[in-house]
Amino acid sequence: MNILFAASELTPYAKTGGLGDVLAGLPAALRARGHGVAVALPLYRRLRASLKELQRTPLTLSVELGRRSLSARVWQGVSREGVTVFAIERDEFFDRENLYGVNGEDYFDNAPRFIFYCHAVMELAGMLNPRPEVLHVNDWQAALIPLLVKEARLPFKTVLTIHNLAYQGVFPAAEFALTGLAGFYFKPHALEYYGRMNLLKGGILFADAVTTVSPGYAREILTEQYGCGVNGALKQSVLTGILNGIDTDLWNPATDPWLVANYDARRVTAGKRKNKEALLREFGLAEGPLLGLISRLTEQKGIELILAALPELLSRGVGLVALGSGDAQYEEALRKLAKQYPRQVAARIGFDEQLAHRIEAGADIFLMPSRFEPCGLNQFYSMRYGTVPVVRKVGGLGDSVEHGRTGFTFSGHNPESFLEATVSALELFGDRKRWKEMQMAGMRQDFSWERRVPEYERVYKTLK
Ligand code: ADP
Repeated sequence: MNILFAASELTPYAKTGGLGDVLAGLPAALRARGHGVAVALPLYRRLRASLKELQRTPLTLSVELGRRSLSARVWQGVSREGVTVFAIERDEFFDRENLYGVNGEDYFDNAPRFIFYCHAVMELAGMLNPRPEVLHVNDWQAALIPLLVKEARLPFKTVLTIHNLAYQGVFPAAEFALTGLAGFYFKPHALEYYGRMNLLKGGILFADAVTTVSPGYAREILTEQYGCGVNGALKQSVLTGILNGIDTDLWNPATDPWLVANYDARRVTAGKRKNKEALLREFGLAEGPLLGLISRLTEQKGIELILAALPELLSRGVGLVALGSGDAQYEEALRKLAKQYPRQVAARIGFDEQLAHRIEAGADIFLMPSRFEPCGLNQFYSMRYGTVPVVRKVGGLGDSVEHGRTGFTFSGHNPESFLEATVSALELFGDRKRWKEMQMAGMRQDFSWERRVPEYERVYKTLK
């Protein structure tokens, strides 16, 4: 099958979250199974600077954006995983430092930027030889494509994957004119959402199939509580939840170049001890069970549960290494705790890929008490590194961590439930034999993308 992916991120060239990782992993795994696969992305500044084998193609697109008629040249390169990447050049929109905005503020022109991108991908798809059968579009930035395809009666099937329903691409009604669509589509049955334009909603309603990144999240987003205002639209779609895979080469304790000692399941105890000692030394922490946290510091991630339960945990002699950035209040709270308990709490505010690896290897227990979690990645990394995850039983976390076998889960979104689960983990930590069994159960699992490919193939096959 020939599949063209449309997405606004691709790790490591353009990434703000899990979306970029999926675009690195899934197309490559489909390609390895013999499918024809390519990814279409905006030509961001960083992509131009770093994508392998990037060169201009003879293709030029011409896109109607409201009253303007804009051209775009198409570049072609190869991803780190060997997948063909088409990059759409329009410097006024994409030659920028960041993907979506600066200092927490969205760029003022994100609607024209990504509406332009959607039109351009559609036009590109018609020029490719062989022609793609499926346009697999991702998140709100590409979500207008299914409606454009339907409206133009183009012979493509469309699949929309939702990586996080909290981001929908909602814009003022005035921006609707940029789509070039008839006013008929600015109605609640299509793009209108309480008087504004909602691009993701359009994708949900017009894609031939919708997927999201875990079965648990697929169930949750049909409810009022997790549906972010579009659960009604989702109920009209054909929705499948497929758990994400991970990059098992990048996250492999046996070969990870950032660790002080490599290890596999047979040498987990000695290997982790060395990495833990190095981590404790690096941050000047005292010996004791060590908790790890690597996270965007936002409300989604349940940071307030950790903050509330921490005094009690610290009184039991545990330590915490936290790495993250985000909301100022959480950053401040973690900094303060590190100052108050210099021998027990370390907080590194910022983004640090290498430290993330060292924490996964050196911590004993990993914390993910998310309020909601479409899939989550760190619980997989943790299990692969023999670090036992304590997670809230929500979305992909509930699908991937088995309570009492590969980690600990809890349900209530409150500090007491989180504390209880963490204390259970600490108790088990005291039982070396059973702890090792749990570490091994996690380390032996297969989290590769290859395992997920048949599930996507099944979705593609159902498209009519
Ligand atoms: P989300 O996409 O909601 O942020 P995920 O768990 O799906 O959450 O993916 C987050 C990814 O970003 C993980 O690979 C995690 O290790 C990484 N990450 C998050 N914050 C940091 C940070 N401050 N430094 C390094 N890596 C981080």
